[in-house]
Amino acid sequence: MTGSPLTRFAPAPTGLLHLGHVVNAIFVWGLARQLGGRVLLRIEDHDRQRSRPAFEAQLLDDLDWLGFVPDIYPTSDFRRGPCPSRQSDRDAIYAAVARRLAAEGRLYGCTCTRQEIARRAGRQTSAYPGWCRDRGIALDPGVTWRVRMDPGEVAFTDLLRGPVRQQPALTHGDVAIRDRHGNWTYMFAVVVDDLLQDVDLVVRGVDLFDATGPQIALAALIGRSQPARFAHHPLVMKGPEQKLSKADGDTGIPELRRRGMSPAAVIGHAARLVDLIADEEEISAEEVARLVRLDQLASR
Ligand SMILES: [Zn+2]
Repeated sequence: MTGSPLTRFAPAPTGLLHLGHVVNAIFVWGLARQLGGRVLLRIEDHDRQRSRPAFEAQLLDDLDWLGFVPDIYPTSDFRRGPCPSRQSDRDAIYAAVARRLAAEGRLYGCTCTRQEIARRAGRQTSAYPGWCRDRGIALDPGVTWRVRMDPGEVAFTDLLRGPVRQQPALTHGDVAIRDRHGNWTYMFAVVVDDLLQDVDLVVRGVDLFDATGPQIALAALIGRSQPARFAHHPLVMKGPEQKLSKADGDTGIPELRRRGMSPAAVIGHAARLVDLIADEEEISAEEVARLVRLDQLASR
C-alpha cells in the first residue's frame, strides 16, 4: 500500500440509514484512519425515481449523530443546496463522458428488457449478450445505452479477500450506462465519480464483489490508468441467506435513536453483528480503526 488513500462513503437516499450502513462506515473510516487516508462523502441519487430529498436529509443527520465525519464534502456541503458530490448534480459530467465513449464507437442503443434478456438467454442472468450491438439503434432517451466491453480477464487483489480473477464480459456482458428512464446507472456513475474524484480505495459490502471486474474494465475504457484498490467486507445478515435491507425498519438508525441507544452503542452493536468484536460494547466513531486491523482481518 503506497500513498495516502482516498476512500468514500456513498449512501443512496432511497431509504433510511440502517445497521448495514453502519458496518460499511466502520470499515470505510476504520481503514482510512488506519492507512492515513481520507474519506469523501458522496450521495448516490442516480436513480431519480427512487431517491428522496427527505431520505437524504435524514441520512445526513444520522451520519452526524453517529459521529462519522467526512474529510471531503462534509454534510453541511449537501445541506447548502447543489453539491459537486451529489450524483443528481453531476449530470453534465456523466453526459460528457458518455459523449466521449460514443465518439469512440463504444456506445450503442439497446431496446431489450431485463425479462427478455433472461428469457432469450435461457437462464436468470444479468449478463447481456450484445444482441443490439449492430442494430444501429440511436442513443435516444427511452433506450438503454450500453458499452461494448472487450473480452478478457480482470485480476485484482482485494485487501480483505486476497487475489481475485473475474471475467466481466462473461458475467455482465455489455454494461448499461444509462437506463431507458434516463437514469445514469449505478455502474457508470460510480466508475466516473471514483475516477474524477480521485478515489483510489473502494470499501464496500461483499454484495458488490461481482461488480468489481466490470467496474475496473469500464474505468479503463474511460481513461483510468491505475485501477482503484478494493476491500469487500461482510454484510449484516437477517438470516443465513438474506442480507439486511432498507425494508427492515427496525434496524433503521432513526428507530434506534428513538429507542434511546447512544451512537457508540449503535456502532458497537453493528460491529458485533459482523463479528468484529465478541461482545456488545460501546465504540465511538473515532475509535473504529482498532476494529478493522488489516493484518488480522486479511488472515481470517
Ligand atoms: Zn438489446
